Amino acid sequence: MIKRNISLKKYTTFKIGGRAKYFSEVKTLKQLKDALKWAQQQQVPFFILGNGSNVLFSDQGFSGLVIKLTNRGIKKLSSKSVLVQAGTLTNDFLNSCVKNNWSGFEWLAGIPGTMGGVVYGNAGAFGYEIKDYVKKVETFDSQTQSLKSYSRSQCHFSYRESIFKQKTEVIWQIELKVMSGNRKEIQEKIAENWRQKIKNHTFDFPSAGSVFKNIIIKNTPYQKYFNKKKGTVTILGQEIAVKGGKVSAGWFIEQCGLKGLKIGGAQIADFHGNIIINYKNAKAQDVLRLIQIAKDKVWQKFKIKLEEEVIIV
Ligand SMILES: Cc1cc2nc3c(=O)[nH]c(=O)nc-3n(C[C@H](O)[C@H](O)[C@H](O)COP(=O)(O)OP(=O)(O)OC[C@H]3O[C@@H](n4cnc5c(N)ncnc54)[C@H](O)[C@@H]3O)c2cc1C
Repeated sequence: MIKRNISLKKYTTFKIGGRAKYFSEVKTLKQLKDALKWAQQQQVPFFILGNGSNVLFSDQGFSGLVIKLTNRGIKKLSSKSVLVQAGTLTNDFLNSCVKNNWSGFEWLAGIPGTMGGVVYGNAGAFGYEIKDYVKKVETFDSQTQSLKSYSRSQCHFSYRESIFKQKTEVIWQIELKVMSGNRKEIQEKIAENWRQKIKNHTFDFPSAGSVFKNIIIKNTPYQKYFNKKKGTVTILGQEIAVKGGKVSAGWFIEQCGLKGLKIGGAQIADFHGNIIINYKNAKAQDVLRLIQIAKDKVWQKFKIKLEEEVIIV
C-alpha cells in the first residue's frame, strides 16, 4: 500500500527530516516488486530505508517513494550458514545467535540497523566488519525485475563501503557464515559490548552514530610519521593511536575545538567529536551546517578531508 505525505522523523534514529511524498512498507518480494513498479510508472525516484540509523533526510523530505524494508526472518541452511532477510533488525539477529549458539556477531550489539543496512555500508565495530561473515548477497534489480546473486568478493567490500553503494538494487537477503560457540560466552560478550556503547553515551540522544568515516592514515600527509611498531602516528606534535590503519575522525574534530558546538537544535556531542546529536528539535539544516564546519576546520588545520559515513538524502 502506498501512503502519502508521511513524516520521516519517526523512521530515523536522528528524529529529523521532512515528509516522504509517498511511503510504503514492504514485507514480501511481491510487495517490493509492486512498489518499485509503481514508482517507475509514476516516474518518481525511490529510496530504500532499513531502520533509518544511518540517514539524514532533508527538511524538505523526499519527493519520491520511500520503501521501508520489513522483510524479517532467519533460516538455518546448514551448521555453518544462515539466510537472513534484509529487513531483520540486528537485535533480532543477535537474539537468534544466542538461541542457536552462533558466535562471531557479538560486535553487532548496539548497531541499531537492519541486516541489509549493515551489509550496504559494511558496518563494523570493535575491530570486526560484516564483510568477514558474508557468503552471498541476493538483491532485487528494479531494472531487470529479477533477483541477482553476489558472492562475497563480488560485493567489493572495504571500510564502510560495498558495491551496493554504486547500485540501485535492493539487498533482499544475505547468506552469512556462522560458527558454533558457547551460549553463556556469547551472551556475556553481547552484554559487554552494550555496556561499552552505553558508557560512551552512544544512546543518550537521537543521532545517526558516527557522522564521518575514520581517517585511513596511509591516505594522509601523516603516513610518514606512522610508527607501525607502536601503533601510533604523530600529528602536529601529538602521538595518537592508529587502529586498523585508521585514526578516529572524532580526534581531528576535537582538536579543532568543535566538541559541544551547537547550531539550532543540533550539537557536536561534547562526549564524542564524531557524533552529532539532535538535542532539541534539530533541523537537517542545523546538522548540515555542523558537518560543513567540521569539514572546513579539519581541512584548514590538518589538510585532512572528512568524508561522511552518514547517508545524506
Ligand atoms: C546509536 C548508534 C550507534 C551506531 N553504531 C554503529 C557502529 O558501531 N558501527 C557502524 O558501522 N555503524 C553504526 N551505526 C550506524 C548504523 O546503525 C549502521 O550504519 C547500520 O548498518 C545502518 O542500518 P539501517 O538499516 O539503519 O540503514 P538505513 O539508515 O536505513 O540506511 C542506510 C543506507 O543503507 C541503504 N540501505 C538500507 N537497507 C538497504 C537494503 N536492504 N538494500 C539496499 N540499500 C539499503 C539505504 O538506502 C541508505 O543509503 C550506529 C548508529 C546509531 C544511531
